[in-house]
Amino acid sequence: MRNRRNWGGGVTGLGAAMLIAWAAGCSGDGTPTDPGGGQGPGDEVVIPAEPFIGTASTITQVEIQQLVTDIAHDSTLGRRSPSPELNEVAEYIAGVFAAAGLTPAGDGGGYLQWFQARNSGDPLAPNVVGWIEGSDPELRDEFVVLSAHFDHLGGVDDGPGLDRIFNGADDNASGTAALLEVAGAMGAMGIAPKRSVVFLAASAEELGLRGSIYYLSHSPFPPVATVANVNFDMIGRGETNHVYLIRGTGSENAAIALAVADQHQELGLTPQDSLDDSFIRRSDSGAFVLDGIDALFFHSGLHAEYHEVSDEVELLNTLKIEKVAKLGYWVAVELAGRP
Ligand SMILES: [Zn+2]
Repeated sequence: MRNRRNWGGGVTGLGAAMLIAWAAGCSGDGTPTDPGGGQGPGDEVVIPAEPFIGTASTITQVEIQQLVTDIAHDSTLGRRSPSPELNEVAEYIAGVFAAAGLTPAGDGGGYLQWFQARNSGDPLAPNVVGWIEGSDPELRDEFVVLSAHFDHLGGVDDGPGLDRIFNGADDNASGTAALLEVAGAMGAMGIAPKRSVVFLAASAEELGLRGSIYYLSHSPFPPVATVANVNFDMIGRGETNHVYLIRGTGSENAAIALAVADQHQELGLTPQDSLDDSFIRRSDSGAFVLDGIDALFFHSGLHAEYHEVSDEVELLNTLKIEKVAKLGYWVAVELAGRP
């Protein structure tokens, strides 16, 4: 007997704490305070910049635990591209995007973007795409794309005692959960970053980045206007405070991301700067690199359960996923431009 998953249970409370924090940080009527000496004619009026009061506090280990449990559940049969179970998970992701307040950017006004993942005649497979329009009139036509693939290798449910389901808990329920949590946090910011931010949950990554390649050639957001990609793939294993920040030659965003990590010592997370032109192409970040886009790839390392049926939720370090998601949120806000 399979356990029942709890579709939708992971999204309760998304954003609420952040909205409260946002409201508490606002200055009320926005009137600049008088510096004390009065201002005569000709004095320059200096309006202090409203401090950015974003917070990553809506990103929690509890929600991440629920998300990875749902996405990597046996009943999703390893999320093969294409399959009915992959489509179910896509709808689940779309529900989280909707709860986060993302605008749909898929086919026909919905979140799902359908494409041929294998051979002509096979059923189509979906990406899930949503976005937040930037708040700056000059910069909102530039895009930062956050990505994670949610497909995996499939499998067969043979019943109790046998396990031939590739759950893909680390690969890549972990990164998908981070993407969804960042969407929730950014949707609750109160004011969007300057540039637009696109959230891409890609499928058919395991077939050769086919979902992200399709996205780049068919999305309403042109690659030429895409200034950054931040990709999460396998971020849930290994030491809690360590993560690889993989980048390609010439990446300028990596230095920004490392500076952001330095600013957020509260996370206790130390990204390891990893220049690797080969490895960055092993996940959806590679599709962006091929299009000349500066891409970053958060990754916690390969392990004995990589692409095995033993890549199970029980082995995940969900506190680490929370930390990487929070860092990803702050990096995305910086790359998109603090409002
Ligand atoms: Zn992967």
